Amino acid sequence: MNRSEAPPDSQGPLTLPGIGASPGVAIGPALVVGGSAPSFKRRHVASEDVEHEVQRFRAAVSDSQANLRGVRERASRAGGEIAILDAYMLMLSDDVLVQATEGNIRVDLKCAEWAVSSAVRVLAAHFEDMDDAYLRERGQDLQFVGELIIRTLRGGKDPAPFVKLDEPAVVVAHDLSPADTAAMVNEPVLALITEIGTRTSHTAIMARALQIPAVLGVTEATTRILPRDNVVVDGLRGLVLVRPSLQELEAANRRAERHAALCLHLRDTFDLPAETADGVGIRLEANVEFVSEAAGAIACGAMGIGLYRTEFLYINRTDLPGEDEQYEVYRSLVETVAPRPVTVRTFDIGGDKFVSSLALPGELNPALGLRAVRLALSRPRVFRTQLAAMARASAHGPLRIMIPMIGTLSELRQVRELFDGVVRDIDDRGLPRAEHIPLGIMVEVPAAAIMLDRIAPEADFLSLGTNDLIQYTLAADRANRSLAYLASPFDPSVLRLIVNIAIVSTRLDTPLSICGEMASDPLAAVFLVGAGLRSLSMDAGAIPRVKETLRRISLDEAEDATAECVDLDTAEAVEQLLAKRFAPRLYDILQEG
Ligand code: PEP
Ligand code: MG
Repeated sequence: MNRSEAPPDSQGPLTLPGIGASPGVAIGPALVVGGSAPSFKRRHVASEDVEHEVQRFRAAVSDSQANLRGVRERASRAGGEIAILDAYMLMLSDDVLVQATEGNIRVDLKCAEWAVSSAVRVLAAHFEDMDDAYLRERGQDLQFVGELIIRTLRGGKDPAPFVKLDEPAVVVAHDLSPADTAAMVNEPVLALITEIGTRTSHTAIMARALQIPAVLGVTEATTRILPRDNVVVDGLRGLVLVRPSLQELEAANRRAERHAALCLHLRDTFDLPAETADGVGIRLEANVEFVSEAAGAIACGAMGIGLYRTEFLYINRTDLPGEDEQYEVYRSLVETVAPRPVTVRTFDIGGDKFVSSLALPGELNPALGLRAVRLALSRPRVFRTQLAAMARASAHGPLRIMIPMIGTLSELRQVRELFDGVVRDIDDRGLPRAEHIPLGIMVEVPAAAIMLDRIAPEADFLSLGTNDLIQYTLAADRANRSLAYLASPFDPSVLRLIVNIAIVSTRLDTPLSICGEMASDPLAAVFLVGAGLRSLSMDAGAIPRVKETLRRISLDEAEDATAECVDLDTAEAVEQLLAKRFAPRLYDILQEG
């Protein structure tokens, strides 16, 4: 019998598959923590007690904020991810939540606990059905914030069920809120296992920041793993071994040691130049979503920020961010990263990226709908505000503006016209800005890739968005796990497109980089350099291993491999060729996968 099919009550060894969300291998006793929602009695309040109930609610909000502030300080001192905690603080005082709750108290005469819980249920329901994993997780964040207020209302001294460990342990939970993971920074946590969550969930981001192995999305982990069970958490392969055999333990120990040795080795390369074995320099930059990530990215060796996704400024709020507010954010990013350059991308909202303040219509085919630049051009006032904030931030350091989802030359021309007007207006207002602010595009729609020789001359730079380019080329939804076999960056159709794009960019002398996930795969990075790319932007955590990969391979070798890859028939054949050719030299890096 396949071991993963062992019955839940089996006391024997068990292998549970999940998503490897943070690399590394850890072995230790399980601490199964319950994350049950706080219980309370639903009661109605008398009308003369309504004001008192509203005051109870407001006091609980402010106590919850104070509590979170404490966690934030602890996390910040330990170098943990704090942006999400800031987001919680904002959510706690969010007008929509506050008004809905107070309305439930005043109109329906519900007690404060009940009023919060009903308000959260209604608001979170908006997020639940969304295809976009990021947005579904925002619904969970809202639920967490609601639970935090309810626990405070119930008078607990420690409103959030923060995990406390007496000894090193592997934490197993249904889910962990970012506040939980933030509070764990000073605890001897060996690894994390949760039943829900993906590579983009906050638990994953936090685990990577703290360098704790994590396997998420492990079905029924909290019932199949018993307290104090010995477990192996293999964050490299996305596997959990419960009550492992002696041989499995030995193998896990070897993997853990190899991973630790590679990490140490990679740390030694942080200050080495990013170049091929024969000295061809390659720019390695980082993709970030929060300004707070930038300093860490530089510490990992990022030579700039190749993609700053600005969607998050618009999400989780009921109003739109104004020009000054955005300017402060972009300026802070530019100042953190200067003199290195920053590429800020205008909002890629729409389709399934729900932003309540934009009142977007429902769409049958969201990925093919009113998204990114299409939405921006249909809401010129919102777009202009963002462009103005970006242009003003250019006064503080090198900044480029990137437009997502450009499909046609007309779209780029419309953006350019709008941008010229924005720049004139900034000058009229007497505000400072860089003399030249490069305006470039993401190449992620096949139409733009095909027409690139006409579009590129009017763009200051190009950046390959392979996440979408692959999805649209192969007509395979990037979020659909059952289509992952189709949506491969190694598919020859994608490789041919990339090679053609690189040829056009070289011929027309328009700088080309890549900011899709593909760049973080060591073998794909070799292909990209062989195709002519000299600038790759990726998850900051991937920079050391991509740098080390490129330092072991010469440009000639990469070019030969690329030429052979585009002549192959299938993604499997491409992967085999690259692995056969380079795996012996990249063994320590590739075995991580
Ligand atoms: C891409 O499509 O490759 C990309 C980097 O953008 P996003 O993942 O934000 O769509
Ligand atoms: Mg994209």
